[in-house]
Amino acid sequence: MSTPNIPGEAGNDRVSRRIKKRVLFIFLLCALLIMLGSITLSSFSNWKKASYSVPPKTPGTTYKVKTVHALTPTSKPTAISTQRTIHAPMLNYPLFNGNTRLPEIALTFDDGPNPFYTPQVLAILKQYGVKATFFDVGYLVADYPNIVRTEYSNGNVVANHSWSHPDLTYLSEQAIQSQLTSTTNIIQTTIGVRPTFFRPPYGAMNNTVLAQARNLHYTTVLWDGSAADWTLPGVNFIVRTILQYVRNGAILLLHDGGGNRAQTVAALPIIITTLKNHGFKFVTIQQLVDDLVLPIS
Ligand code: ZN
Repeated sequence: MSTPNIPGEAGNDRVSRRIKKRVLFIFLLCALLIMLGSITLSSFSNWKKASYSVPPKTPGTTYKVKTVHALTPTSKPTAISTQRTIHAPMLNYPLFNGNTRLPEIALTFDDGPNPFYTPQVLAILKQYGVKATFFDVGYLVADYPNIVRTEYSNGNVVANHSWSHPDLTYLSEQAIQSQLTSTTNIIQTTIGVRPTFFRPPYGAMNNTVLAQARNLHYTTVLWDGSAADWTLPGVNFIVRTILQYVRNGAILLLHDGGGNRAQTVAALPIIITTLKNHGFKFVTIQQLVDDLVLPIS
């Protein structure tokens, strides 16, 4: 029979050292895991900062506008900032809408200037005291510079909608840059002011398109609501659909060029008067962006 192995002081020391070693090992393991975790978190947050808030789409597809919003009547009178001389800096993410706490609407017109319809749109805007934003196609600016000058001198914002309206997601970096730069130059030559807002044709964009726009100091502007007025769906349809998208800070898309725009022209006064009656104020995209950070008093 062997004597039971009763641990003495030496045995206790061994056990104690072993426990200490284990505690130290667990401590070091925890420290290592914390370090690894913080490195991972830090790189993830850096990646988040570097990436766009909108994921890239596959070529040829367009971003869907948001779901239908209810018309937001405002009982309070609109107390919105006056025009500023210093504007908000370029946004490095695509803009779909403005400040949702302010009863502001930005009307935007794409694909002009058109020698027949744009002057009619301009006359209606002037008649109702409304300022809007025109996303003009570069080669048409070259063809109809006087219309673009009127857009600008009436207080509207003239913006970049590429030179020839291609789907930019199919183009190389150089070709995208050329589309944007040539349009920048013709607008600057025509009205003496460099445009700062850009809308990709068809709303089609990927990270290359957005990066090129940002490199050229453009804020990319999309939209909240559109009535597909370019499909000639009827005046009532255009009015009804546009009004469904209306909410505070909405960017509404209409077309003054690219085809027959008689229905858009007919719908415009109805849209304007309805929204004015609901207490909305019409602003340019510049004003909309400036007011993004406006606090409510
Ligand atoms: Zn367009």
